[in-house]
Amino acid sequence: QSISTEFDTIAAISTPPGEGGISIIRISGVDALKTAAQIYQGKNLNKVESHTINYGHIIDPDNGNEVDEVMVSVMRAPNTYTKEDVVEINCHGGIVATNRILQIILSLDARLAKPGEFTERAFLNGRIDLSQAEAVMDLIRAKTDQSMKVALDQLDGNLSHLIKNLRQDILDVLAQVEVNIDYPEYDDVETMTARLLQEKATEVKAKIQQLLSTAKQGKVLRDGLATAIVGHPNVGKSSILNHLLHEDKAIVTDVAGTTRDVIEEYVNVQGVPLKLVDTAGIHETDDKVEKIGVDRSRKALSQADLVILVLDSSVPLRDEDRELLRETAGSQRIVVLNKADLDNQINLIELHEYVKDSEIIKSSAVSPMGTKDLEDRIAKMFFAGSIENTSNNIMVTNARHIGLLKQAETALDSVLEGIEVGMPVDLVQIDMTRAWDLLGEITGDSYQDELLDQLFSQFCLGK
Ligand code: GDP
Ligand code: ZN
Repeated sequence: QSISTEFDTIAAISTPPGEGGISIIRISGVDALKTAAQIYQGKNLNKVESHTINYGHIIDPDNGNEVDEVMVSVMRAPNTYTKEDVVEINCHGGIVATNRILQIILSLDARLAKPGEFTERAFLNGRIDLSQAEAVMDLIRAKTDQSMKVALDQLDGNLSHLIKNLRQDILDVLAQVEVNIDYPEYDDVETMTARLLQEKATEVKAKIQQLLSTAKQGKVLRDGLATAIVGHPNVGKSSILNHLLHEDKAIVTDVAGTTRDVIEEYVNVQGVPLKLVDTAGIHETDDKVEKIGVDRSRKALSQADLVILVLDSSVPLRDEDRELLRETAGSQRIVVLNKADLDNQINLIELHEYVKDSEIIKSSAVSPMGTKDLEDRIAKMFFAGSIENTSNNIMVTNARHIGLLKQAETALDSVLEGIEVGMPVDLVQIDMTRAWDLLGEITGDSYQDELLDQLFSQFCLGK
């Protein structure tokens, strides 16, 4: 593959904004080495070997002053992140020096990179495909080890290979159809060709359905499971939440450096990332302003994939509890009988009028019993106890991929219907080609420029 020279040279600070132990300025493009060499005092960067790191100083060309002591990595095309020449300047993590170095570089032969532009170049220069570029972002944002594993598999190209194979299968059959159409003098050629299309469409559709069956779990791993913890004030919601947080150490706030502006809280429950909906509401209930607490809970409820309804089992059911029980009946739900260390005062016969046995879990936020059962239940609900096995399968996690797979499935349905009603083969062929196109959008074999803009703009600056 040839190395593209059609792009200009770009630069950005690739470490998160602010002060740090080190910061890294990344330069990519044909002029990367030349630019760095102009401001670097040390070995001649134009002559050093590729993939070496070099000690030296950055000198301000305006006045000859030393700006910082640095280590400079030189990586020549094509074995680099972007497939272009890449230079990375590791400087002491000061904000002023780092910004100054970037400014100097931008005054020479480079311009400031757009968010995600290094990764976009990796795509445009053919090092990775679109689904792999998307995996880079998923990897940055991964909330649990499991989410990371799935993103890493996708980055390795597992999903891409599967999609490429499906497309090749379709292409082969389309080629065969062309050949057959060219020899219409043979008897039966129409029937034979239709059967060929039918077989292949059925086969590819089954594989797409298999992939789509992983989508629900995949999406949870990628985006987190929107979870609302609701209940009357003082039943123990904050205590349970603290337990979940302490048990699995990681509370993951959304990653610095991505352009999402909402800060979300995540709890890692046995590999399932719970995205807590309206945690502010949970703490608010301590105010004893019951009405506000309940109103907030109600809002959280409507946004949740999972509702954890907490009851205080040391007091009888209240009207408000009954109301919440009714309101959450249609949700994916776990009803927690908290304070199980105290004597139970809840009329269980009445409770069963609202709740199935399988939805009930006991917990005690103040005894060793803790919230272990609750955690087990959450994990079971979403991975049928087999979360460890997910790494063996290729998963789809991304809404864009899921949408395209569904459309491809629909196109294949049209192929099958067409054949059933005896539609001419050249018309059926159109739907088959459409399935091929749609699958190609997943890997970026076909794409619109707007899609690239929209995708890469979600990346952080310098990635
Ligand atoms: P919230 O208002 O629903 O968030 O309830 P909190 O978590 O703030 O708990 C209210 C009170 O109940 C606090 O004094 C907790 O220590 C206590 N509490 C919470 N969970 C338990 C439990 O399982 N057993 C007992 N005995 N007390 C609990
Ligand atoms: Zn509380």
